[in-house]
Amino acid sequence: MRTYHTHFGVPIGSQPGGTIRIARQNQLPSYLRHNIPDHLSRALSRLRLSGHNLNVERLRQQHRVPFKLRICTKCNWQFVQDKKHILLDCPCADLANLRVKHHQLFRSPSGNSNRLRDFINQADTKGLALHVHECLECCA
Ligand SMILES: [Zn+2]
Repeated sequence: MRTYHTHFGVPIGSQPGGTIRIARQNQLPSYLRHNIPDHLSRALSRLRLSGHNLNVERLRQQHRVPFKLRICTKCNWQFVQDKKHILLDCPCADLANLRVKHHQLFRSPSGNSNRLRDFINQADTKGLALHVHECLECCA
């Protein structure tokens, strides 16, 4: 408790709802502060922390395959199967259908050069989490 007081500088019990709970929630990344099911927030975390099973990570960790050879097995574009390719670009029917299903996520195309960052940081966290979950399941 002494360490907690020193670290946060707020007396325990001085705020309604419990100081510990408030302090811990403020330290979470914004996408984890939304009220979404665990399996969906887990999918977002896996994507952000490269804990997914896409070829770009799986082939690096298991077989040390060179980066340019970690290609997508869902299409014939010969692109590296990474987050951007799976979420935004892969032309395979399953992933294209998911983009149609979650079309509300693709309403405002990014004018920025970093499409993936803009896509992942959009306001509809729950919709994004569902799309990510289904894309990762599709590529499992
Ligand atoms: Zn592909």
